[in-house]
Amino acid sequence: MSDAAPTNASELAGIPIIPAVDQHHVKPNAPVIGKVHATYLCTTSRKAAGFVRHIEIDVSGTALENAWHAGQSFGVIPPGTQSNGNPHKLRLYSIAAPTGGETGDGTIITTTVKRVVDEHWDTHKLLEGVCSNYLCDLNVGDEVTLTGPVGKRFLLPENPADHDYIFIATGTGIAPFRSMIMDLIKLGMPSRTALLMGVPYESDLLYDQTLTGWAKEYEHFSYHTAVSRHLTSNQTKKLYVQDRLSENFDQFGPMLASERTLLYICGIAGMELGVFQILARLLEPEQLAQYLHLDPEIANDIDNWERRMIPKKIKKTKRVFLEVY
Ligand SMILES: Cc1cc2nc3c(=O)[nH]c(=O)nc-3n(C[C@H](O)[C@H](O)[C@H](O)COP(=O)(O)OP(=O)(O)OC[C@H]3O[C@@H](n4cnc5c(N)ncnc54)[C@H](O)[C@@H]3O)c2cc1C
Repeated sequence: MSDAAPTNASELAGIPIIPAVDQHHVKPNAPVIGKVHATYLCTTSRKAAGFVRHIEIDVSGTALENAWHAGQSFGVIPPGTQSNGNPHKLRLYSIAAPTGGETGDGTIITTTVKRVVDEHWDTHKLLEGVCSNYLCDLNVGDEVTLTGPVGKRFLLPENPADHDYIFIATGTGIAPFRSMIMDLIKLGMPSRTALLMGVPYESDLLYDQTLTGWAKEYEHFSYHTAVSRHLTSNQTKKLYVQDRLSENFDQFGPMLASERTLLYICGIAGMELGVFQILARLLEPEQLAQYLHLDPEIANDIDNWERRMIPKKIKKTKRVFLEVY
């Protein structure tokens, strides 16, 4: 990890050993063809502000079969060309299936895709993101061109049971956590695992029923939601993920104080700043040092932190894992 603060073992306890996993089995110059196995909306309601699909792809018989670990991503090459005539570029999607896939035999890889829609900068006409809409339009049986897997750090540690986990997601950032939680479930959910999920509207919660079910079934797993644009039956104020961390500090505080705990953050680029600020406000300096190393210049000016200070002035330690896009 390039932006990790320099540490030594006595200074920082609980440093995880990250397994050395293979990546790039399938390179963009020799992609493989998968077939859509299932596709469905995974928001809580069709009235959600965004359209997000759970998409399962059969990769049996290809070099991607059984070739990924929870937390990695795969590449999709959409058909067609850009306006300059060049082929469309590859886009990455986090794997939402556990290691071994949806069916355990390595054949079904999954992701969670949000349709990107925008207004054209020049014409203000509707702009549909190329790859996300291509993927979400696919039907069962359709072919899709794939590469990967990609990722060697945003992974569960070598011995998952040696650690506890705080997973913080916004939107489709839930994908790698679905994958990791399913891996932990296969191990009998040996670790205290808290998932914190942030969305704009309650209807945008993803895999909500499944996650609620797991929280009931597994004593060590808890599921916390933060809805930022309206009040809900269990939320009397609008909350971002960092606000939920603060609201539920009676649960998160002891977890963060434990040497076993690792912090994973995935989703909307920029979300990490708010999380880092709340950690800096809530944790005692020696606890904070387990997760972040601050440039003394900014340590007492938390309100004025900006994203560009990461990673130069706000360095995460090896107990923090970040994937934002
Ligand atoms: C490691 C990693 C993991 C990821 N995992 C996921 C995942 O699990 N799920 C997921 O949904 N996404 C994921 N992404 C994001 C994904 O790779 C794509 O970036 C995303 O789907 C958008 O791609 P697109 O082709 O649909 O949009 P694009 O066509 O690439 O457009 C992207 C954006 O560009 C802007 N834009 C481009 N041209 C114009 C223009 N002329 N006028 C106005 N705006 C313009 C628009 O704002 C648009 O939103 C991940 C990214 C990374 C790096």
